[in-house]
Amino acid sequence: MAKEGKLVIISAPSGAGKTTIVRSLLGSGLNLEFSISATTRKKREGEKNGREYYFLTPEDFREKISRDEFVEWEEVYADHMYGTLKCELERIWGKGSNVLFDVDAKGGINLKRIFGEMALSIFIMPPSVEELKTRLEKRGTDTHEKIAMRVEKAKSEMAFSDQFDRIIINDNLHQAISEVQKQIETFLS
Ligand code: ADP
Ligand code: 5GP
Repeated sequence: MAKEGKLVIISAPSGAGKTTIVRSLLGSGLNLEFSISATTRKKREGEKNGREYYFLTPEDFREKISRDEFVEWEEVYADHMYGTLKCELERIWGKGSNVLFDVDAKGGINLKRIFGEMALSIFIMPPSVEELKTRLEKRGTDTHEKIAMRVEKAKSEMAFSDQFDRIIINDNLHQAISEVQKQIETFLS
């Protein structure tokens, strides 16, 4: 592997504000580059291969598993596999940047186990399950059934939060962003 940099792992239940926080980190002048995962899920409108994800067929994904090309992978939702390719880390470290992950809670715990002190793992916690549900409803991107599914998954993910280095509650967004930035700055310096 190329010269190794540091890694920042962000995990959160769907609707907790992870995407909003990750976006703000990428524009904040910290030397972080987003790790583009591979997935077998279908591309959503507006997404581009090689920008949000590397979109693979299940066959290609399985072939990469058998060739040991993943650092970690998970079946996050039924039939939808997601994983981090080793070559993605080499790409980012090769440029002299640190890696920023947006992965589910299990993936976050696995990555922390693999990289130890080189990684900082942060769990973004919603103020409550009710508020999480309200945010998902307001966001308006999911059906009632999907929201109910995400809220159920959120409850089980929140139970993993104590396995992370830091837990940040996203109640006031500005405060949460500034707290996450402060933690990362300290870790990278
Ligand atoms: P995730 O990526 O974790 O699913 P998003 O970043 O898409 O979550 O946030 C879910 C919704 O909640 C979005 O509509 C976002 O604008 C909103 N949101 C994020 N943080 C807050 C906050 N602190 N207070 C109120 N709404 C928020
Ligand atoms: P979405 O399909 O909404 O983009 O993402 C679904 C979930 O998969 C999110 O919780 C996201 O963090 C997670 N995810 C994305 N990439 C990876 C990855 O490489 N590994 C793991 N374990 N989870 C991932």
